[in-house]
Amino acid sequence: MNVRTELPPTPFIDVAAQRRRLGPAIDAAVARVLNHCQFIMGPEVRAFEAELAAFCGAKHVITCASGTDALVLGLRALGIGPGDVVICPSFTFCATAEVAALVGATPVFVDVDPLTFNIDANGIAGAVETATAAGLTPKAVIPVDLFGLPADHSAVAAAAKAANLFVLDDAAQGFGAIYRNKRLGTFGHATATSFFPAKPLGCYGDGGAVMTDDDALADAMRSIRVHGQGSDKYDNVRIGLASRLDTVQAAVLSEKLKIFPDEIDARNKAARYYSNALADVVTVPAVPKGYTSVWAQYTIRVSGGRRDALAAALKAEGIPTAVYYPIPLHRQQAYRHYPVGKGGLPVSERLAGEVISLPMHAYLDTATQDRIIEATRRALKA
Ligand SMILES: *Cc1c(COP(=O)(O)O)cnc(C)c1O
Repeated sequence: MNVRTELPPTPFIDVAAQRRRLGPAIDAAVARVLNHCQFIMGPEVRAFEAELAAFCGAKHVITCASGTDALVLGLRALGIGPGDVVICPSFTFCATAEVAALVGATPVFVDVDPLTFNIDANGIAGAVETATAAGLTPKAVIPVDLFGLPADHSAVAAAAKAANLFVLDDAAQGFGAIYRNKRLGTFGHATATSFFPAKPLGCYGDGGAVMTDDDALADAMRSIRVHGQGSDKYDNVRIGLASRLDTVQAAVLSEKLKIFPDEIDARNKAARYYSNALADVVTVPAVPKGYTSVWAQYTIRVSGGRRDALAAALKAEGIPTAVYYPIPLHRQQAYRHYPVGKGGLPVSERLAGEVISLPMHAYLDTATQDRIIEATRRALKA
């Protein structure tokens, strides 16, 4: 029997290691909430919003119940609805396009860049043409900072400006990342993020936030978050949601935010270690100059149909992997009737067959990485 299989399985994302590091601080923070009993919009929510604003440089931070709701708050506040088009990549988590459909708009898919996996801004003009030809009004674009790497926000901004589109950044995976010396949170008209436990900054349940520098947009999003309230909650000025971040989750997040920069460094160290050791056998993730990723995923490309064999070989050695995303959205039952931008989505389709993500978190030790690297090299040479 292969002795390697007797090592304990490696976690894909080690939430427990972080819990051990933070244990007493989080317990105390949660206990404070349990004692004051302000479970909805308690003081920890306001405090966390201020901390997050200071961290990312956005003027307004509006926390909410999930990353998906954060995107909905943005679209609703921008006034997007039926007859409007929201342009987004197909190679992303479904929520990016789902929110367009949820507000009654039509998602139109564009392709991604093969090196960064992020929206190809050159495709935006073609998607605008597709939308207009279908009798719809192009209103917004949602770039995604996929796997933690910022999209090319300057290129997206230029294409959006040319077509008079709002930009809503989906930073659910990339929050904390840096694009040209600035953290995500201020690119575009608004930025949405998620605190789902597996995201780089996750809480102990569901949560999200949306950021903007625009005062009117912030007011609208705060109102929509709580049933479209006006001067108080019994003054209803628009249709809204019930989408607050629980006070307990805000308390957890404040503690986690304190160690987030340190965790981002650790993730970058782990990513560099992988890339140095694997660049000669697979396509390792690209990080363009001026970008810092938060490595929500460490995703390599394995060509020639060897991806699934690699996953099976690693699994046999107790090493979990994941494929984000095996089916691009324009091939999914729920989304395949929506339009695709001019030129189609050949890169998204190719990536879906080649990508595989290796274990990545801030508590990966070198011994574990060596084991993953050796197993990967062995499997690819077999
Ligand atoms: C996770 C995720 C979301 C949604 O976040 P939830 O908090 O799970 O609702 C949206 N977009 C992307 C790209 C994501 O990865």
